[in-house]
Amino acid sequence: MRKLLHELVLADAPPGRECEVRDIMIREVEPLVDDLHVDALGNVIARRKGITKKTFMLVAHQDEDWALLITHIDELGFLRFTRLVGHRWNLLGQRVLVHGTKGKKQGVVGLPAPHLIPVKEQQRGYRPEFDKMFIDCGTKTADDAQEIGLEVGQYVTAVKHFGELANNRLIGNCFDNRAGLVAMIETLRRTHQQDLGMNLVAVASVQEELDTRGARPAAFAIEPDYAIALDVSATGDHPNIKEDLIPVKLGQGPTLLKADQHHVTSQLLNAWITSLAEKHQFPLQEVVLRTPIHFGTDAAAVELEKSGSMTTALLVPTRYFHTTNSVIDYSDLEILVQLLVKCLESLDQLAKGKD
Ligand SMILES: [Zn+2]
Repeated sequence: MRKLLHELVLADAPPGRECEVRDIMIREVEPLVDDLHVDALGNVIARRKGITKKTFMLVAHQDEDWALLITHIDELGFLRFTRLVGHRWNLLGQRVLVHGTKGKKQGVVGLPAPHLIPVKEQQRGYRPEFDKMFIDCGTKTADDAQEIGLEVGQYVTAVKHFGELANNRLIGNCFDNRAGLVAMIETLRRTHQQDLGMNLVAVASVQEELDTRGARPAAFAIEPDYAIALDVSATGDHPNIKEDLIPVKLGQGPTLLKADQHHVTSQLLNAWITSLAEKHQFPLQEVVLRTPIHFGTDAAAVELEKSGSMTTALLVPTRYFHTTNSVIDYSDLEILVQLLVKCLESLDQLAKGKD
């Protein structure tokens, strides 16, 4: 699972151009399901037949949590941009890839050497305005940029990395939401030979970071009875965050979302998941991510499609997401998969519970 997570992190999938991750999903999931297709937006929709007519959906988004779009190329060949998704304080000095028509081109979000910044400005906490920032790809003129395939409207992603920290912790880009995707694949793999109590539809959605745009048409087509979104949660276990704002910690197990900015999650699903975690002695954290925290997942989008469905979300605790260096504890991911396997093995119980 760790090797696959590494591969997924290194793939580039800004919202709306998820093809690199989509190809990996198709390769990994197709052998594990009865049917797989890709819809018009790029959602990967994989189905396994179950014993009853009810349908259970797992959804994890393919798109990543840090991406820019080129808005202008000036006469000196510098590229201006707008932020599509990601932390605005995590831009300066970043090495990036511009997805040009002649392949990806390396660049850097330029930050003047400190020697050039007047001491008074440094003392005031120098930070250039967002609209003054630029990308330097080495091009000297607008024609030069055009020559190597750079154009307005192209995506920019971070240069990716993946590594190990102490205590079984991993560092890398976009664990939001490659952690959710790898959990979904691994759960499908571990339950591959089992009969399921409901039809299972596993969706790798697109454009979650753009207001959950992909999950909506997928849910409209699938009409699930129940759905769980697999995503990440922020944590409150590092400096400068008050624990009472968000009590989630790395290494304490996956996190069950009780409510966020957009919805209150299904009490029936939450009780089912909690009882399975207790029965099998899996650590499980719980969280409410509402104001002043801004948070949402595909679960809220799925809940309201067609005649509605019961939805919730299971989250991998993740530090610093929507930056280019996020941190997870691998044990949380492993326990999430073990819990999801128990969920799929108990779908017949869930089906009876609703009746
Ligand atoms: Zn996410």
